[in-house]
Amino acid sequence: MQFPSVQKTQVVRTRASSRLGVSYLFFGLLLACSSSPPPSRYKGFVPPASVSTTVTMAAPAIDPELEIDLLAPFKTTPALLRTAHLNLLVHRPKAAIAATAEVLYGPVKPSSNEESFARYLRAEAYEQEGQPERGQYDRERADTLAIDLGLRRLLAGKPRPVAEEVPVVASPELAVQPRSAWKAAGPDRRNVEPMDPVRRVTIHHSAMYFRDTRPTTCAAQIQMIQRDHMSNRGYGDIGYHYLIDPSGRIWQGRELRWQGAHAAGNNNQGNVGICLLGNFMRGKKGQGPTSAQVQAMRRLVATVMLRFKFGPDAVFCHSDFKATDCPGALMEPVVAEMVRDLQRRSGRLADASAQ
Ligand SMILES: [Zn+2]
Repeated sequence: MQFPSVQKTQVVRTRASSRLGVSYLFFGLLLACSSSPPPSRYKGFVPPASVSTTVTMAAPAIDPELEIDLLAPFKTTPALLRTAHLNLLVHRPKAAIAATAEVLYGPVKPSSNEESFARYLRAEAYEQEGQPERGQYDRERADTLAIDLGLRRLLAGKPRPVAEEVPVVASPELAVQPRSAWKAAGPDRRNVEPMDPVRRVTIHHSAMYFRDTRPTTCAAQIQMIQRDHMSNRGYGDIGYHYLIDPSGRIWQGRELRWQGAHAAGNNNQGNVGICLLGNFMRGKKGQGPTSAQVQAMRRLVATVMLRFKFGPDAVFCHSDFKATDCPGALMEPVVAEMVRDLQRRSGRLADASAQ
């Protein structure tokens, strides 16, 4: 039996000499089974073809570093998720996060099963990085989506995320950065109308890739949106009432006493516009909302609902009003989940407001 690359064989021998027998057997079996040669340095290497705990998280039969190497040419979801798992084994959380991102934000929408694995593995990677709170939302989503029994068991072994109980309590102390914090230009008073009684809220994204969390950069981004809205679109002020940056900071946009300009025409009446900074589309320039952003949105929406006494049925996406991609394919399920959650808790929310 000939290996195409002698050098790599030596790597196997030095790193895993004890498993050498197993490795030869492994490649031998693979060589015997595979019919069409994949574009790999090892003609016999066959990447995984499905996603499950038994396949994606199987104990490596060869040196994990070598398997990562062999998987590199394959950009399929099973190969990327296996790569993420192997990177966790060799303590490379950043590489694991990158592989899961290719699945979550790639051009093809992952299935629920695939997404559950991607989110679980990314949460594990954040934990390995010493930032478990960044993986909180991923873990929640994985928990919602997981159908694989092995994965369900792994998720059940972890304590429930703390944020689950915290977020939807509307808080009077909700911190909102004032307009002065981003040096807002004053509104053009001839070009704004008084707001009708608030009866609904609509979620948007800014449709520009943005992941900076520094206050000055976020402020500059909001200024730029205001300039665009006032100079290019002829609005009397920034169109949205609130903006949420990737760190979860909430910024005051147009004051609530003025009707917004975000949902087209009459749809703006009594409608609070909330824009999350970022481009939540699939594909190369897309990104997911951060978990801090999602938590801040949940708090803000719950607060507005309580203050103006309307229900979760009046929480919309921009795309509910017109044919638009806003707030993005990666955001719409998050909003839908928030609405379901608010519906489950609406009794408790009402209690909180009565106190
Ligand atoms: Zn929008």
